[in-house]
Amino acid sequence: MLVLKNLQHNEFLEKVNQKSGSNVLNCYQCGKCVSTCPVSGYMEITPRQVMQYIKLAEDEKLFAANSTWYCLTCSSCSARCPREIEIPRVMEAVRHLAIEANILPDSSKIKSIKKFHDIFISMIKRYGKMFELRLMAEFNLRTGQFFKDIALAPKAIGKGKLKFKSEKIKNLKGLKRLFEMNQKLESEIQNTENASKHESK
Ligand code: SF4
Ligand code: SF4
Repeated sequence: MLVLKNLQHNEFLEKVNQKSGSNVLNCYQCGKCVSTCPVSGYMEITPRQVMQYIKLAEDEKLFAANSTWYCLTCSSCSARCPREIEIPRVMEAVRHLAIEANILPDSSKIKSIKKFHDIFISMIKRYGKMFELRLMAEFNLRTGQFFKDIALAPKAIGKGKLKFKSEKIKNLKGLKRLFEMNQKLESEIQNTENASKHESK
């Protein structure tokens, strides 16, 4: 059962709203997102419930659930949301906050998704685009499934879908600068939050 806590000041809601650019308080629990979502049946907490958990500052329960990790970012839900909430961005914001808090669901599937997520981001930082062959190889190595999908490789190579050589985008420096700016902004926000917490004590 959900327990109402900290309704006066919900820091979790503020953080999710800030990261997602949406106002979760606008959700009126119609459930259209659940009926549209292709994976809601596999989620421990449905997208509608995710909104409610955020409003109730139930961050740890959300971090421990598979829901935000199962989200495909397909946007079917937000296309039908009558309150125009960017649900995939909300899911992503919760996922990032879970990573920051270092709380992941206790499931090998989610751990694999997290590894895929980390490799994906590191590829983007290194090349500015995806290098599929390396992504596949690193993922298989890090998850101990050395020959996973290996049978698909010849076909994919034949169709030019898997390249042996990595290609970098032209303005990789610019992209790196964007990552650095984002990190700087995040730490400035964190410092401001810490300072205002300190003042209110
Ligand atoms: S469709 Fe929008 S308003 Fe309806 S429950 Fe989902 S998030 Fe809330
Ligand atoms: S974006 Fe995520 S929550 Fe929304 S419909 Fe797609 S999978 Fe479901």
